[in-house]
Amino acid sequence: MSDVIKLLPDAVANQIAAGEVIQRPASAVKELLENAIDAGADSIQLIIKDAGKTLIQVVDNGAGMTETDARLCFERHATSKITQASDLFAIRTMGFRGEALASMAAIARVELKTRTAGEEIGTGVIIEAAKLLSQKPCNCAKGTNISVKNLFFNTPARRNFLKSDNVEKRNILQELQRVAIARPDIFFQYYQNNQLTHQLNKGNLKQRIANLLGSNYNQRLVPVEEKTQIVHVSGYVGKPEYAKKTRGEQYIFVNHRFIRSPYLNHAVENAFEDLVPDDAHPSFFLFLETDPEQIDVNVHPTKTEIKFRDDKYIYQIVRTAVKHALGSYHLSPGIDFDRESAFDDIRPSKERPVKPPTISVNPGYNPFVQDNQRKSPPLQSLRSRTDPGQWGQLFPADADTPAPKEGPEKKQYLISPDWDKGIQEDNGQKKFFQLHNRYIITPVKSGMMVIDQQRAHERVLFEKLKDVLEKRNAASQQLLFPENIRLTENDAAILREIIESVRFLGFGINELGKNNFVIDAIPHDLPEDHALQDVMEGIVENVQKNRVDLKQDLQGNVLRSMAKRLSLRYGKALSEEEMAGLANSLFACQMPQYTPAGKPVLQIISHDELSEKFK
Ligand code: ADP
Ligand code: MG
Repeated sequence: MSDVIKLLPDAVANQIAAGEVIQRPASAVKELLENAIDAGADSIQLIIKDAGKTLIQVVDNGAGMTETDARLCFERHATSKITQASDLFAIRTMGFRGEALASMAAIARVELKTRTAGEEIGTGVIIEAAKLLSQKPCNCAKGTNISVKNLFFNTPARRNFLKSDNVEKRNILQELQRVAIARPDIFFQYYQNNQLTHQLNKGNLKQRIANLLGSNYNQRLVPVEEKTQIVHVSGYVGKPEYAKKTRGEQYIFVNHRFIRSPYLNHAVENAFEDLVPDDAHPSFFLFLETDPEQIDVNVHPTKTEIKFRDDKYIYQIVRTAVKHALGSYHLSPGIDFDRESAFDDIRPSKERPVKPPTISVNPGYNPFVQDNQRKSPPLQSLRSRTDPGQWGQLFPADADTPAPKEGPEKKQYLISPDWDKGIQEDNGQKKFFQLHNRYIITPVKSGMMVIDQQRAHERVLFEKLKDVLEKRNAASQQLLFPENIRLTENDAAILREIIESVRFLGFGINELGKNNFVIDAIPHDLPEDHALQDVMEGIVENVQKNRVDLKQDLQGNVLRSMAKRLSLRYGKALSEEEMAGLANSLFACQMPQYTPAGKPVLQIISHDELSEKFK
């Protein structure tokens, strides 16, 4: 047999290599915008014709190129950004592989005009299918003006692969958005078929987001800020109530480079887990800044994936940063987050080691058992977790209220002294009122708070059960008379799947065969009026419902389902002690304002709103 291996001609090799970097017009847009940024431009025009198939042009006011560089830049692996392998771990520029212009030149006609500040005359280069057609001096502004025409003209297979104009246009806009959000300090204009469709003035991140995505974003964002020795996380997350069914606005930038990271997206979504429904996705615009030596950007030709030296640590920081941001927002209803300084006090300090937030609910506490022996559970005080200044807005200051009374008249429900101080003390008068056996009303400093009793209890149970699961310390009570239940084929199958979790949560349950089960123990504080057959059917039903588009693990599902099914129903009359106990437990929760499915638990009606109504 004769030799069969041949070296590919340069033109073919270039076309193949080009496919790695430039898959579609949007990839060329990305590379050209990044080059303009690397050149230090603070004003960039993007001009597109026919969804980029006919023309992609980027005009910048950056450093420009010399006559020689204007030719050299089209060579493969020609870059001004690194010179040796070790530079790969000190990258602060967007580009560094020296492939983008070579790739474009191999599969399009590229016209370049560029001038540096030091020269009066610029240089113009035309190159097509990797062949230099001309280079001559030209008059042009300082900076670079580069046009990529007839992309894929000599690779028909690729050209045929392109999607409809609308899809390609959407991809281009997405690339522009990523770059524009990453750099609000740069002025952008975007022309499509000779029409200026976007003008983005310089501003701060929030203004840039509002400019791109709509001014209503101003109200939707919560600031994120967390700094450790290794990484600085900043930016915004969308409030939970604005989470969407699609994963639309989810941006993570590392050193101002947009990156795709399912892992870090997970960290963010995980921080939202108890606040948005399973099928909804929060928006976020997060910036991670870190020493380049902490990351490897060179793991993917389009540089949209990176590797962190310690990705578990980064995961934790991101998750914690978002949790803190959400916590600050939730614990201070109505606070104007524009006054970013209001958040300074509750930001964790550098010295404090980062650990995942834990839940501070006492799993042994049951607001519905009035047990005189029960000690005040060690609820973490509200104030210790939050900025007193912010709570001060919600509740009266300590000085205004008498010290809690000791002795026999001290009410059982004073389980959280701080909370108690927070509520208006009216000399032994009632502080909790029930409305329609559905809402609990209580005066707070800023007006009145209305709590949805069922939702409040669902949140309390959820956090409590979660804690039980995490610590594996379910408290059960043995039943004197074990109860048999019988489920349908389908329900029994689901129960078998979740039976371990159900047991972890405190049920003693075993299968007897033929879809019959026996329950001989129940969670410690399951109110007694629950019929166990109903309870199990309800849990199974919720599990099934949650599963329809389940992104959540089975245990989480069981947890939510159980909290929902076991929560106090509307129509149940509550004593003042019970209401106070529920309110106390609610405010010991991490996220008192929302149910696990993201529904509001409470509302505050302010003095102003009330007096407005009486005008
Ligand atoms: P990379 O960005 O990875 O270095 P490119 O092929 O994108 O590779 O660009 C090659 C080189 O051309 C860059 O390193 C830079 O020196 C120069 N260059 C490209 N675009 C511009 C621009 N808009 N302004 C100034 N110089 C540019
Ligand atoms: Mg580049």
